[in-house]
Amino acid sequence: MKVLVVGGAGYIGSHCVRQLVLTGHRPAVLDNLVFGHRAAVGSEVPFHQADLGDEEAVCRILAEERPDVVMHFAAYAFVGESVADPLKYYFNNCVCTLHLLRAMLRQDVKRFVFSSTCATYGVPQSLPIVEAMPQAPINPYGQTKLDIENALKSLAHAQGLSFAAFRYFNAAGAANDGSLGEDHIPETHLIPLAIAAAVGQGPPLQLFGTDYPTPDGTCLRDYVHVDDLSRAHIAVFDALAQPGAALFYNLGTGTPTSVREVIAAVEEVTGLRVPVIEQPRRAGDPPALYADARKARVELGWTPEYPEIRSIVATAWRWHQSHPRGYADR
Ligand code: UDP
Repeated sequence: MKVLVVGGAGYIGSHCVRQLVLTGHRPAVLDNLVFGHRAAVGSEVPFHQADLGDEEAVCRILAEERPDVVMHFAAYAFVGESVADPLKYYFNNCVCTLHLLRAMLRQDVKRFVFSSTCATYGVPQSLPIVEAMPQAPINPYGQTKLDIENALKSLAHAQGLSFAAFRYFNAAGAANDGSLGEDHIPETHLIPLAIAAAVGQGPPLQLFGTDYPTPDGTCLRDYVHVDDLSRAHIAVFDALAQPGAALFYNLGTGTPTSVREVIAAVEEVTGLRVPVIEQPRRAGDPPALYADARKARVELGWTPEYPEIRSIVATAWRWHQSHPRGYADR
């Protein structure tokens, strides 16, 4: 398939581009490089630098590339920032995505894969989370993703767009050959911060909250390897052949892992101690979020190849060792 990967220079998008190449598909990338890294996209992959708000430019790129499918990873994803600056999130995550969708319809491109999030569920009524549970986001980031899910449903009904919205749990890890990995500025995610603390490259890890109603008092999350996420995006292609398909899938391993368990895994994998400073809870953190991902397993035949935390951390550690300063392109 010819696939236009929007946000293909970012963390999850670049891993997906690599998987597309490895599985014989033909990706092209559209990215504005605000957060993406040019070095994360292989030189053999066509690259277009543009903003989604520039709908005419997006139309021109679609006309040039003629993709069968568009994958959309380009979004802002800092929960705290979305609370402080909601307009930034509504404009980028909603308005720009609507421009992309309108450009696609203008160019008669009707298959779409969307990066959604478990943040659309808010504080879940029960665990593990199944797709049919009510969605009630507790921050603007989650709300913008839910708004686009709803727009997609309407477009599937009205115009025969077929789409899959993947609700990611905690994307983590790096390409197993060390070529790609996580390089966010600023970095807020647990695993890269724990590794940076362990090697002395960053401050001690702040552990947010030790009094949660969980077995060890720290938050439970569902860490899912970024290459496993990518494989699901490719596994859904056949289902998108049906016009008007409206598909929603949780992507997680289903295994709850506490913050202390992640720290222990980092110490085991690196052989280093992670200096930790215990802090109060971080605002907006639900105590536990983990997926029931049986729908993706049954319907897409999707099986995570990294089902447990040590194997995920091992790939993040390999990335850190080969790229201690990330892509070093800023
Ligand atoms: N966390 C932490 N210290 C940090 C970063 C994260 O204790 O420096 C905790 C956070 O409170 C949450 C878990 O680690 O319980 C995962 O956080 P992350 O930001 O990686 O992902 P999120 O679950 O917020 O999407």
